[in-house]
Amino acid sequence: MRAAILSDVHANLPALEATLAAVDEAKVDEIWCLGDIVGYGADPDACTALVRERCDICLVGNHDLAVLGSIDISSFSSTAAVAAEWTRENASEATLEFLRGLKPVGTRLGVGLFHASPRDPIWEYVLSLDQADDALDAQKERLGLIGHSHVPLFFTRQEPGLPGETHGDQTSEGTVLDINTGRWLINPGSVGQPRDGDPRAAWLALDLGERTAHFHRVEYEIDRAVAAIVGAGLPVPLGERLQVGR
Ligand code: ZN
Repeated sequence: MRAAILSDVHANLPALEATLAAVDEAKVDEIWCLGDIVGYGADPDACTALVRERCDICLVGNHDLAVLGSIDISSFSSTAAVAAEWTRENASEATLEFLRGLKPVGTRLGVGLFHASPRDPIWEYVLSLDQADDALDAQKERLGLIGHSHVPLFFTRQEPGLPGETHGDQTSEGTVLDINTGRWLINPGSVGQPRDGDPRAAWLALDLGERTAHFHRVEYEIDRAVAAIVGAGLPVPLGERLQVGR
């Protein structure tokens, strides 16, 4: 059983299309999405329709919830708040309806799925070893997948492991993890707004038979995504950051 893990699409249609093409070429059995389908980018309806059609399970993220008006966004940056407002005004009722039906936590084939983290699935950015320790303590499943930080990374604690024995790192294209033993928390990185300095779209191939996790990157038409953002009247920095992957 092989699954493609996608997260943080953020209404970036060229990035999602290129990622799905790469996923199709890799011939996976399922596609799982960890949330934040919308927010930041200019194509919320097309991206939501594609995710709805192609993904076997999909979580909701904080940006999706912001568009639905169901969380407080006072901690959002001004550009993120403007994008949430724009999306609320421009997304179709079908898009909003689909987002309303999603949860920030799920499980699939025994794998824990969380938009942000096991202890706070909507807001927490798991970037440090301390946070990963707490996250692994809160996680029932041996393997957990998270999105939200837009940084591809992994944390693991081999068993019998104690808090403090967790290790992990940010990672890059081509890394293959052997997840045969121990507890794991893995972030595939972001499809639609990478923030690790590599502007290419990110996804993860999870092989539950071989017990491996393989980090992938895909080139996409960044200029097309930027033009769509500018054309929609969204804040220009949201396009500029796509070009540098920050
Ligand atoms: Zn996000």
